[in-house]
Amino acid sequence: MQENTDKSSRLATINFRRAEFLQSASAIDNAPPDQGSEVAFAGRSNAGKSSAINTLTENKKLARTSKTPGRTQLINFFSLSDNQRLVDLPGYGFAKVPLAMKRRWNEHMERYLQTRQSLRGLVLLMDIRHPLTEQDQQMIHWSASAGMPVHILLTKADKLKRGPASATLHKVRAALSEFEDLISVQLFSALKRDGLSTLERQLKLWLTDDSVFEEEIESV
Ligand code: GDP
Repeated sequence: MQENTDKSSRLATINFRRAEFLQSASAIDNAPPDQGSEVAFAGRSNAGKSSAINTLTENKKLARTSKTPGRTQLINFFSLSDNQRLVDLPGYGFAKVPLAMKRRWNEHMERYLQTRQSLRGLVLLMDIRHPLTEQDQQMIHWSASAGMPVHILLTKADKLKRGPASATLHKVRAALSEFEDLISVQLFSALKRDGLSTLERQLKLWLTDDSVFEEEIESV
């Protein structure tokens, strides 16, 4: 009981509006120290990742990343507290990006998903009208093989009527049913702020992961 109370009070203390830019990294080697907990956001370019992060943090400028294809793509870290971070991964899916750059991106992502100790989960954004692209499936595959939980946002849900949106939700869930324990899927609209509380709840659960409590208890 005491434990539950402690956990709910910790969940309540995360305030996404307090997110601040921490640093950019061109690769995981120059990421901030691998301590505490972080949640990463990934998705095809134009999937609505910046809009989702901006809606979550109520900060229009936070996720204003360079969107020019071929530019150096950076991983951006935002701090929520001393030991909790949000991570904005470079968008993928630019047709015009040179092959060598795509390969490098793949290597970085695979390594980040598989080796980053503080990573608690991946939020994967997909435009509800084009879910599960090849690269999305690749991200899911890397995450699954690392045992990394994935929470999928079917973005721009306001673009579809309720019936078709819900049909897509069920279809995506069915397509991923083999990963039932690791993957959850929800509808999301940054424009209407639909699905925001579900997303916040998932992030809070990940960021206040029990292992963080254990680490803290051990260090007392
Ligand atoms: P990113 O490249 O993944 O960061 O995508 P952006 O957040 O920049 O969004 C790409 C485009 O989709 C922009 O024109 C946004 O205004 C639009 N967009 C993003 N979220 C929504 C949404 O919830 N509803 C609608 N209708 N449009 C959205």
